[in-house]
Amino acid sequence: MGKFKKITVPSDGEKITVVNGKLKVPDNPVIAFIEGDGTGPDIWNASKLVFDEAVKKAYNGKKKIAWMEIYAGEKALSVYGKNKWLPEETVDAIREYTVAIKGPLTTPIGGGIRSLNVTLRQVLDLFACVRPVKYYSGVPSPMKAPQKLNIVLYRENTEDVYSGIEFKSGTDEAEKLIKYINKNFNKNIRIPSGVGIKPMSEFGTARLVKKAIEYALSHNRKSVTLVHKGNIMKFTEGAFRDWGYKLAKAEFRDKIVTEDELWSEHNGKMPEGKILIKDRIADSMFQQLLLRPDEYDVVATPNLNGDYLSDAAAAQVGGLGMAPGANISYSTAIFEATHGTAPKYAGLDKVNPGSVILSGVMMLEYIGWKKAGRLIEKALKKTIKLKVVTYDFARQMKGATEVKTSEFAKAIVSNM
Ligand code: NAP
Repeated sequence: MGKFKKITVPSDGEKITVVNGKLKVPDNPVIAFIEGDGTGPDIWNASKLVFDEAVKKAYNGKKKIAWMEIYAGEKALSVYGKNKWLPEETVDAIREYTVAIKGPLTTPIGGGIRSLNVTLRQVLDLFACVRPVKYYSGVPSPMKAPQKLNIVLYRENTEDVYSGIEFKSGTDEAEKLIKYINKNFNKNIRIPSGVGIKPMSEFGTARLVKKAIEYALSHNRKSVTLVHKGNIMKFTEGAFRDWGYKLAKAEFRDKIVTEDELWSEHNGKMPEGKILIKDRIADSMFQQLLLRPDEYDVVATPNLNGDYLSDAAAAQVGGLGMAPGANISYSTAIFEATHGTAPKYAGLDKVNPGSVILSGVMMLEYIGWKKAGRLIEKALKKTIKLKVVTYDFARQMKGATEVKTSEFAKAIVSNM
């Protein structure tokens, strides 16, 4: 018996380790997976088939993922017992094995249990939520030219109004806090009111912006845009912008040009090989992504702006059914579906597994297995182009062949 109670560590796999901040990946890495609730099992089975086949094809059988099932959500209740939505050893296993992928999880309602996704992000300090948003030809989109959008969003994941410091209107806590603020800071908050606190730090901003700039540099991206609402919230959102520029200049001085410098020093012409750092006010950014999407590339935002913006951007290229995501820290990464459990379709082998499959592409790239990731992406594109799609796309496409979740996965494999 190993050190875990219910998790079986595959005997044919080796641990991925982090050495001097860099991943060291064996040919048979143990990767943890959470199947997910509702439609999760259908999606996971389809996705796993695609991942395994792509890895086999890309490396002629020399590499193979040793999958390790870990539990969260409803399946954890059946394995560990009542109220064990997120067992401690699940978190320990992710921490120890550093890379995990998950399907969607039910958010328990009532009983004071928080969203499992939010809890995972906080306990593992997964400070950056990464969402690439780009268009796959043939996907039904409401835009005239959806292919113009190709961005990677870096959303701060741990601060801002998500810190959970909120007090309900009419409670003693709310009244105490309001009275304190009114008296000590000469403010005039109405009683009763609900109040919430929006903490944002230079520490939290700098590490997020640093990750975004590093990504832009390593992926030959042209710009990083800091999206904030600093015209109204000067010391939180405005500070995010200021700290972002400060970090960019302090750590990447010879690799970046700010938008001000572009005009004051370079006559509006971007010097070769450098990255432009610019900022936009959040409301304007929503317009920009609709009207001039091709002027944006990597985008760094505080938590709430990023939440809104990532779903809005995903809608432009066809919705969440195909939107991948990852939550990362310096040492740990969880790749995940961005949609929910779609419970009404559970067990029907019906929904689109695209979000988890593309999250897997991100994961393969993250562990350095780019060839396998590219194989999947190409085959997925081809499958959609051939109009072999699940119900969600089929209902919006003329002449489509509607297939089940499992058939969609098999079609991707045969198009590899
Ligand atoms: P949802 O599960 O995302 O489903 C809403 C609708 O989106 C579905 O009815 C379906 O639309 C469409 N959809 C979602 N996933 C799809 C897929 N893979 N393929 C095709 N269509 C898909 O949102 P919800 O009903 O609000 O939430 C259900 C549960 O999931 C809740 O417990 C919620 O808390 C949880 N949740 C989890 C996550 C996560 O784990 N990351 C994220 C969001 C929500 P049609 O009805 O039009 O077919």
